[in-house]
Amino acid sequence: MSAPNKSYDPVEVEALKPEEIARRRDEALAAIAAAGDLEALREVKVAHTGDRSPLALANREIGALPPHAKADAGKRVGQARGQVNQALKARQEELEAERDARVLVEEAVDVTLPYDRTPAGARHPITTLSERIEDVFVAMGYEVAEGPEVEAEWFNFDALNFPPDHPAREMQDTFFVRGAKDGESSNVVLRTHTSPVQIRSMLDREPPIYVICPGRTFRTDELDATHTPVFHQVELLAIDEGLTMADLKGTLDHMVRALFGEGMSTRLRPNFFPFTEPSAEMDMLCYVCRGESVGNPDRPCRTCSSEGWIELGGCGMVNPRVLIACGVDPDKYSGFAFGFGIERMLMFRHNVEDMRDMVEGDVRFTRPFGMEI
Ligand SMILES: [Zn+2]
Repeated sequence: MSAPNKSYDPVEVEALKPEEIARRRDEALAAIAAAGDLEALREVKVAHTGDRSPLALANREIGALPPHAKADAGKRVGQARGQVNQALKARQEELEAERDARVLVEEAVDVTLPYDRTPAGARHPITTLSERIEDVFVAMGYEVAEGPEVEAEWFNFDALNFPPDHPAREMQDTFFVRGAKDGESSNVVLRTHTSPVQIRSMLDREPPIYVICPGRTFRTDELDATHTPVFHQVELLAIDEGLTMADLKGTLDHMVRALFGEGMSTRLRPNFFPFTEPSAEMDMLCYVCRGESVGNPDRPCRTCSSEGWIELGGCGMVNPRVLIACGVDPDKYSGFAFGFGIERMLMFRHNVEDMRDMVEGDVRFTRPFGMEI
């Protein structure tokens, strides 16, 4: 700011000369007119009306003028600033109106377009397959039975004829629930199979008993492509007078036909389980090649590795010791049981190659299975 000066004349101060003020005003008006959007206009406003803008600086010079010159210079600067502010306001309104009009066009909703519906979900194929299997047996008069997943060791092993030191208890790699004191066994396990439900069914009911027991089971396996620590089984138990292996075989054949179509059959191979005697491994005919790939190099089958059969699970006649443990008279009644893993059946039935897909909860895995009600 210039120092007060008695002989000071506004026309002699460069910033207050009429033509200089007019020039600054015109610059500001041109910049305002050229501002293409609100952001540019904000910058123009700071440059031409802010504290350090030429007109604001000129305004400050007025204070240093002799009194007689102040009014004249003040009027000139005030008019110029007023014009600039007015132009700013007008341009601001113009640009806001343009923006609003653009938003209306860009964000317009075409109500005639098909609306974006929330995609239909799908039930997990484990649930769907499990219920399909249940349906097959319910249609034959079986009852669906369920039991606890955290189970007393007695139901999971002892009642099923596993002696206390039986290697199967370790063989099955059981999750034991920790006792109240460290190192103390609680005799409580996460069930390693659905067989304890058979025991509970026999204790709860009077023969004849026909139950199907689907459920979640647990073993200490690491999760990988072919193992999972949490998996699903379906077990079946029939107790009645005069049941034989022939009844078991007929029931198995009916099940694979109901699930995989006419012409299917099963075969039994001798095996050992503590809870059945005799025991057998159950295979079903390969539902893809129906056994025609065996010895036929021209028609190899990936599903059964050209063996013609697919291993499904274990079965047998209920061991009389198990019947006795459950209060069923083995001289009057006999029974058969079988069980298999649902994950395994899902894998070969739908060509699922990695077990992890079933537990990771990705909806992209579930959706292709669709909805079965
Ligand atoms: Zn095959």
